[in-house]
Amino acid sequence: MENNQPEESLILESIDRFLERDVKPHVREWEHDDIYPHEVVAQMKEMGLFGAIIPQEYGGLGLSASTYAKIVERISVVWMSLTGIFNSHLIMSAAVQRFGTGEQKQRFLPRFATGELQGGLALTEPDCGTDLQAIRTSATREGEEYTVNGTKTWISNGIHGNCLALLVKTNLSAEPRYKGMSLFIAEKGEGFSVSRKLEKLGYKGIDSAELVFENYKVPASNLIGGEEGLGLNHTLAGLELGRINVAARGVGVARASLNEALAYAQVRQTFGKPIAQHQAIQIKLADMATRVEAARLLVESAARAYDQGQRCDMEAGMAKLFASEAAISNSLEAMRIHGAYGYSKEFNVERYYRDAPLLAIGEGTNEMQRIIIAKQLVERNPI
Ligand SMILES: Cc1cc2nc3c(=O)[nH]c(=O)nc-3n(C[C@H](O)[C@H](O)[C@H](O)COP(=O)(O)OP(=O)(O)OC[C@H]3O[C@@H](n4cnc5c(N)ncnc54)[C@H](O)[C@@H]3O)c2cc1C
Repeated sequence: MENNQPEESLILESIDRFLERDVKPHVREWEHDDIYPHEVVAQMKEMGLFGAIIPQEYGGLGLSASTYAKIVERISVVWMSLTGIFNSHLIMSAAVQRFGTGEQKQRFLPRFATGELQGGLALTEPDCGTDLQAIRTSATREGEEYTVNGTKTWISNGIHGNCLALLVKTNLSAEPRYKGMSLFIAEKGEGFSVSRKLEKLGYKGIDSAELVFENYKVPASNLIGGEEGLGLNHTLAGLELGRINVAARGVGVARASLNEALAYAQVRQTFGKPIAQHQAIQIKLADMATRVEAARLLVESAARAYDQGQRCDMEAGMAKLFASEAAISNSLEAMRIHGAYGYSKEFNVERYYRDAPLLAIGEGTNEMQRIIIAKQLVERNPI
């Protein structure tokens, strides 16, 4: 966190006011109708969220990952989708901030911070997500520009965004494969089109799109770091922040599920008393609350390591794994506690139940998190 940044508590209070006043009253309607919340996005830009972790010298708020995670948790308690609109945007920004040339930082970061350039990350392709080294989108250099051809899918902000960090192969036959991978900042233009909007179980409101690149020209000066072959490293480093964000979303959804279940259990009566007084329900509530607290502590620990500049793939992986599973478990338990009302579209619980499973998939599946954690355990504890 930079020294002259606004007090964390003031920022969190203003986020709470914004959520209470401008989001909560509309969220069920927007979510069920899958409406992109343009006005709220404009407000989030005004509040500086598109530049939350961009340094102040480039026009951002310069917040620490720890403060950022608290913001994400709060927003996710009300509507998780909103965090997706600026999260992958900030991973794109972090890639430029950490690995871009001085000229790239000057050119892009101020425009990212205001949200004038708004977007995310284009990594996944129809035939590969986890195995990113198998991507086939290619970029071939001709003079001072590259020509890009290929298809990306599941790209968050692909429709309403105007700029993406685009992972490509600049050498299709390189061995090992990652040496042929490069990351570009790609602004929308001729040859870069949206082929379709993808329909989803949950995580509505935010756009997920399939994108096609057909002889799309990107200037060589947009190659992050100015050197080919470093794209996978740049991407994986950015995903540490992404995983902290997904974990914070998990805490938010797990907490929202607990809040609603706790309130409902005190008003719903069976056999002459509130269901909160039945032991079977008490056990559920206790487990749900414990998961929320444990998940939050893991997020705080990963964010602290990130802020200290430490390698934190294991910490971010643990936080992401535990918090996303906590969100999945808590949303199901909240549904059980609500009985039939949990299955009703008139209550929020059914949304949490539809949103939570995404957290086990995005920013690296939970299977992959376990593999990362195990590899780091061995690497950090040699015998
Ligand atoms: C709503 C949504 C938004 C998304 N947003 C973006 C975005 O903005 N940008 C972007 O680039 N992508 C995005 N994605 C894509 C997401 O990152 C991928 O779906 C994810 O990385 C998994 O890839 P996959 O779906 O191809 O699954 P696959 O890689 O095909 O995996 C299938 C299954 O096999 C498992 N598996 C794979 N390899 C191994 C292994 N070695 N060991 C054990 N198990 C393994 C996986 O864990 C999974 O269970 C989004 C996806 C969704 C659903």
